[in-house]
Amino acid sequence: MASVRIHHLYKRYGKDKHAVVKDFQLEIKDKEFIVFVGPSGCGKSTTLRMIAGLEDISEGEIYIGDQLVNKLPPKDRDISMVFQNYALYPNLTVYENIAFGLRMRKLPKHEIDLAVKNASRILEIESYLYRKPKELSGGQRQRVALGRAIVRKPKLFLMDEPLSNLDAKLRATMRMEITKLHKKLGTTFIFVTHDQVEAMTMADRIVVMKGGVIQQCDTPELIYSKP
Ligand code: ADP
Ligand code: ADP
Repeated sequence: MASVRIHHLYKRYGKDKHAVVKDFQLEIKDKEFIVFVGPSGCGKSTTLRMIAGLEDISEGEIYIGDQLVNKLPPKDRDISMVFQNYALYPNLTVYENIAFGLRMRKLPKHEIDLAVKNASRILEIESYLYRKPKELSGGQRQRVALGRAIVRKPKLFLMDEPLSNLDAKLRATMRMEITKLHKKLGTTFIFVTHDQVEAMTMADRIVVMKGGVIQQCDTPELIYSKP
């Protein structure tokens, strides 16, 4: 169960700088698919990184479930994050890339194997489990990155422009794949993009940001039907 509550969140870089995220307030329901959308530099990534614990919070509170996570390191937040550049280990096979986090947690070998195979089945990447990232296409790499994220069974998925390196056709396919994945897993997703089509087709609710503040927060139907 992962609802997320964000309360009066601010981010300032440096002491007397103006805030790049200002008074951000949001309640995300368990299993919701939330998309942060807005122009480059509006604070989407910074907000996501604060939720992930990759960036200090200047002011405010973030709760994941009932836990105040302001001071928790990323590894204790029960989250998985997928980035634009995949961040796969180039010298490890697909299998080893997916297993990596579970090995770090010292799970027994047969459990790791089961989890990797299961994630591979869900993402349909079984046929290239023993290849290295450089032998894969961009879309295949992004599937592996998703596999590595889901294998940990997190309560919360954070995605930062995961499709922006893909060509238009693959982007359309992966939009559907991620929507399917969300339904299959029944986990809360927060997805950052500057692409309105992604926001419109994937989100349960869209948070429109501009200049560090939330301009609108509503369902796609309501946001894009307004004049
Ligand atoms: P209690 O401390 O007995 O849980 P509270 O009224 O402080 O009662 O909080 C009720 C719920 O609201 C708790 O689950 C808590 O995590 C959450 N909560 C408290 N303060 C905040 C806040 N500033 N922003 C978001 N959630 C909050
Ligand atoms: P978005 O994800 O919407 O493109 P970001 O959250 O990356 O926007 O950035 C929001 C603002 O914060 C931008 O003006 C950016 O230049 C600034 N910013 C991001 N990271 C840093 C940093 N490490 N130091 C100073 N300013 C930063």
